[in-house]
Amino acid sequence: MMPRSVRHPAWCDVSDADWSDWRWQLRRRVRDLATLETLIAVTDEERRGITGRVGTFPFAATPYYLSLFEGPDCPVRRQAIPHADELLTTPWDLDDPLGEDPHSPVPNLVHRYPDRALLYVTHNCAVYCRHCTRARKVGDARTAPSRAMFEAAYDYLRRTPAIKDVLVSGGDPLSLSDDRLVEIIAALRAIPHIEIIRLCTRNPVTLPQRITPALLEALRPYHPLFVSTHFNHPRECTPEAAQALNLLADAGFSVGNQMVLLRGINDDEPTVTELGRWLLRNRCRPYYMFQCDPVGGTAHLRTAVQTGVDILDRMRGRVSGLAIPQLAVDLPGGGGKITLVPDRLVKLDGKRRVYRDAFGGTFDYVDAPLDDS
Ligand SMILES: *Cc1c(COP(=O)(O)O)cnc(C)c1O
Ligand code: SF4
Repeated sequence: MMPRSVRHPAWCDVSDADWSDWRWQLRRRVRDLATLETLIAVTDEERRGITGRVGTFPFAATPYYLSLFEGPDCPVRRQAIPHADELLTTPWDLDDPLGEDPHSPVPNLVHRYPDRALLYVTHNCAVYCRHCTRARKVGDARTAPSRAMFEAAYDYLRRTPAIKDVLVSGGDPLSLSDDRLVEIIAALRAIPHIEIIRLCTRNPVTLPQRITPALLEALRPYHPLFVSTHFNHPRECTPEAAQALNLLADAGFSVGNQMVLLRGINDDEPTVTELGRWLLRNRCRPYYMFQCDPVGGTAHLRTAVQTGVDILDRMRGRVSGLAIPQLAVDLPGGGGKITLVPDRLVKLDGKRRVYRDAFGGTFDYVDAPLDDS
């Protein structure tokens, strides 16, 4: 049985067995304004956001995730409920910011880097994150991949031996049944040159009940399996989420976190540090801190690139290096990910390089003293 964090009063009488059942949580997702109005005091901006986004990018939240919502500025609520600001557009917004579609040799398989590919396996998610890079597809049943598309993707992977690493993504792959997910993982594992498989899932955050002993047993034969999850804020760090991460680690998964910097939600050093520490305690390694992609509807959530660099600058030296993620920008148009680091070089004087440390001191490093040049 899952440990318990808070529950919204509307679900206080639900049995623990139902509440801990991921299928119950998925069936009871809140997906429309009328139901939401009965649960929280919806603001005008949220109402306009929900109405304005109907038909473009839906909203949905599990009872579990919704129970974490507090007031309108709540960092959990703001990730899940559309806001009127989503209707703002800028000339730099893109539908497919990472140029995934032009980099798909077959539908739903993105092959951008020589040795890696990303497979889109479902359009469903437990919660639709307002900052989703794939808002153009996710939540839209018309983008659900067909059996024939899966076969074409496996075929491409089979005849492309350079691919060593496959990301199983979506949508959230854990929206699929255990059987269907295992079928996909088994098909990938049967391709000899695929070395590692990554499951990209937000369920430890939005539906931790999904991480069941049965699922973990069913996946055990297919290691090495990695999990990339997506915690963005310490308020998401509940006893249930901790248990999900520990179950994954116990079952042999290597678990990493990919957060997205979001304006006014998690774009400050204390928040990123607290999140990183909690993740490590629960055996999940902070991996990436992403600059929010310029996808339409996210202009109000995007931070300045320098904000992320400054966060890293303040973390280095003060917190376990294991807790510090890499800051990544996924270049619009399909350039792929680049990482940014704070500039620590203060002065270059022949072989003498002057660096500043994390606390404002400067230190000399004499470069390769025996080299002639
Ligand atoms: C992010 C991404 C990967 C994985 O990149 P890593 O830096 O290895 O984590 C692979 N393929 C695509 C299309 C991606 O967007
Ligand atoms: S879980 Fe992932 S794919 Fe689904 S809406 Fe959130 S960011 Fe997008």
